[in-house]
Amino acid sequence: MSRVYNFSAGPSCLPEAVLKQAADEMLDYQGSGQSVMEMSHRSKVYDKIIKDCEALLREVMNIPDNYKVLFLQGGASSQFAMVPMNLMTKNGKADYIITGQWATKAYKEAARYGKAREVASSKDKTFSYIPETKREDFDPEADYVHICLNNTIYGTKYAQLPDVGDLDLIADVSSCILSEPIDVSKFAVLYAGAQKNMGPAGLTVVIIREDLIGNAMDITPTMFNYQIHADNDSMFNTPPCYSIYICKLVLEWIKGLGGLEKMKEINEEKAALIYNFLDSSKLFKGTVVPKDRSLMNIPFVTGNEELDAKFVKEATAAGFVNLKGHRSVGGMRASIYNAMPIEGVKKLVEFMKDFEEKNA
Ligand SMILES: *Cc1c(COP(=O)(O)O)cnc(C)c1O
Repeated sequence: MSRVYNFSAGPSCLPEAVLKQAADEMLDYQGSGQSVMEMSHRSKVYDKIIKDCEALLREVMNIPDNYKVLFLQGGASSQFAMVPMNLMTKNGKADYIITGQWATKAYKEAARYGKAREVASSKDKTFSYIPETKREDFDPEADYVHICLNNTIYGTKYAQLPDVGDLDLIADVSSCILSEPIDVSKFAVLYAGAQKNMGPAGLTVVIIREDLIGNAMDITPTMFNYQIHADNDSMFNTPPCYSIYICKLVLEWIKGLGGLEKMKEINEEKAALIYNFLDSSKLFKGTVVPKDRSLMNIPFVTGNEELDAKFVKEATAAGFVNLKGHRSVGGMRASIYNAMPIEGVKKLVEFMKDFEEKNA
């Protein structure tokens, strides 16, 4: 068996230890005689899995007691509608910062349910930076301010949160959750599709301050109402059972490594290997303003489309897969989520150096 180094932006690689454990437990989960995929979500065995997953997430992320954790479906994309339907209900207004395609989609969806306002945007430079904002830029009557904390496609992240005063801050953290510690108490809602840094696709995690639950618009579908899921401990309907189980294994793996402080240390080391090389390379260059660089998604280009294509092709043949950049940026993108081992990053940089020597 030979495994590739998978730099996909999502779904993305999972820790090998997790995959091995899942394989070991595939046919007979802990003496139950069944796979986790086959068992009733109402069974005692499964109840322990979902409760352990929540407890681990709370522990690893240090989630305060006045926040609910919801295990939902529909991807981060469903949250683009769920957030306004549940929360744009006091004044019917919300402020959005536009830092890329996902933030734009969130904003457009919100505009269908109320007065969504674009506060700032970095579209003028292909979203290669995080726009500056001041407290006065935000509408004091906004029901919330929405940001995308790490911009998966463009490779930017907020080094510092915007100052929104007393307003509720909501963040899409799909591509940075669990990559480093985050102060949950600074947010009203955090949400993430699991398929980048938490587990397989199919699971969407929502972390929401309790006092915000219970104000949904009348038109809100039952399945889109946070209160329904909170009241039923994410068991109103069948949850994405297997994805939650893998997420639990991923959280155990992170805890075993030393938690999010350690994760951050490892991720910074990995990202620095690539950024330092890009900054000294004669052939490759990063596309993002240095101060706003992501730890997770690193876009880069040679400046020559043919050479970019040649690099992607040769890298793929050498076992470094999914390095083609998003079509809106071009070039390449290396997504180096938690599960990408440091050896994978070191070997990629070696490969890039070699390519540079032959092609610069
Ligand atoms: C991948 C991604 C999404 C879309 O997630 P789905 O689960 O496919 O809906 C939204 N926001 C960000 C930041 C992402 O990286």
